[in-house]
Amino acid sequence: MNWQMPTANSLEPYWMPFTANRQFKAHPRMIARAEGMYYYTDRGDALLDGSSGLFCVGAGHGRKQIAEAAHRTLLELDYAPAFQYGHPLSFELARRVAAVTPGDLNYIFFTNSGSESVDTALKIALAYHRARGEGQRQRLVGREKGYHGVNFGGISVAGMMPNKKAFGVGLPGCAHMRHTWLEENRFTPGQPEHGAELANDLQRLVDLHGEDTIAACIVEPIAGSVGCIVPPKGYLDRLREICDTYGIVLIFDEVITGFGRTGKQFGADSFGVTPDLMTLAKALTNGVVPMGAVACSEKIYETITGAAPDMAVELFHGYTYSGCPVASAAGLATRDIFEEEGLVERAAAMSPRFLEGLFALKDLAVVTDIRGYGLFGTLDIAPKDRPGARGNQLIQELFDAGLIIKMTGDSLLVSPPLICEDAHLDELFTKIRDVLKTH
Ligand code: PLP
Repeated sequence: MNWQMPTANSLEPYWMPFTANRQFKAHPRMIARAEGMYYYTDRGDALLDGSSGLFCVGAGHGRKQIAEAAHRTLLELDYAPAFQYGHPLSFELARRVAAVTPGDLNYIFFTNSGSESVDTALKIALAYHRARGEGQRQRLVGREKGYHGVNFGGISVAGMMPNKKAFGVGLPGCAHMRHTWLEENRFTPGQPEHGAELANDLQRLVDLHGEDTIAACIVEPIAGSVGCIVPPKGYLDRLREICDTYGIVLIFDEVITGFGRTGKQFGADSFGVTPDLMTLAKALTNGVVPMGAVACSEKIYETITGAAPDMAVELFHGYTYSGCPVASAAGLATRDIFEEEGLVERAAAMSPRFLEGLFALKDLAVVTDIRGYGLFGTLDIAPKDRPGARGNQLIQELFDAGLIIKMTGDSLLVSPPLICEDAHLDELFTKIRDVLKTH
């Protein structure tokens, strides 16, 4: 076998997630530290953070308050068993999160990531129907172009082909509604006019499979990873209406849109539609410690817990690190910062300037569509040679120009930290323009 032991400095042993490993290891892009709106390379070069890390660093980098809370907690309580024992921090964080979630989403189940939150929510939906004597409801409905993490439940209901095709057939009984990207909505800031009727795809699935076979319908209020597809006016209301008519659990995956990205606490608040379950992660701890959550309606919590006999575990589900002390401490400190600094209101205040700067890039020949809402936007770039090739090249060119921006295929996903100021947005859009105009 032609195999060499890696040297001490070799990049080889680390199999990087969602990365062109061979390309990266030949031309690494290393980040050494971060502060405020910027990353710094090991040579000290500044890189403006155009995507809040991976949409998680809403309060900006290097927040001492979070680091110190995590540090204090690690010294005091390194770990406590998550099953059948409690510690105060996770209860307090659940209370603080429930205080900002909409409607009666007042029960918080902790996980360690967005993917786990999604699979947890799907399982809660199934368990809920079973607890109320409708265990035959097992179908799960998602949507084309959806992203719900990488676990088997999530990829089964999601709709981004490359994330699915290498991994078999997924869960049985999953169906997909059409996505809501429409040609006639191109270059529309905010919610587009066309496409509310696409929500009737859920009605068609009810008609096809039977109303008492569908357990849940999961969508991102704004389709995020695929590139900020904002819901058409009336679309989410219609989904809610159909779910109510047929007793289907509506799940909003707010892993990206949660905690201020849309200019309100949640996409649910921005679009005025409350789901039955909501998945959260990322900005919950400002990205500092892995943590996710599912916010659950009182009705679902009470149905599942009420159906179990006394002295029995009600939901056979949970993670060793659900609500672990250090993550809970980071979550609490993040909540403090968001409230003290009014970051959700700040996102709303910065949004007009952000959208103006984003849509001003419309004149660039290589830009084929722009979409945006709150402090989240996307530029679709004309592909070259094969899908994703230009996007991969752009990652390097943007990096060389001093920018880190998440690319999905040939789309640039722009979502700066909520602490951004006018000068950061000017720098962001000037640099994007400088790179894109060479294409
Ligand atoms: N759901 C949505 C909407 C996401 O955007 C993501 C990640 O980007 C996930 C789930 C998965 O989160 P994680 O990568 O923390 O597992």
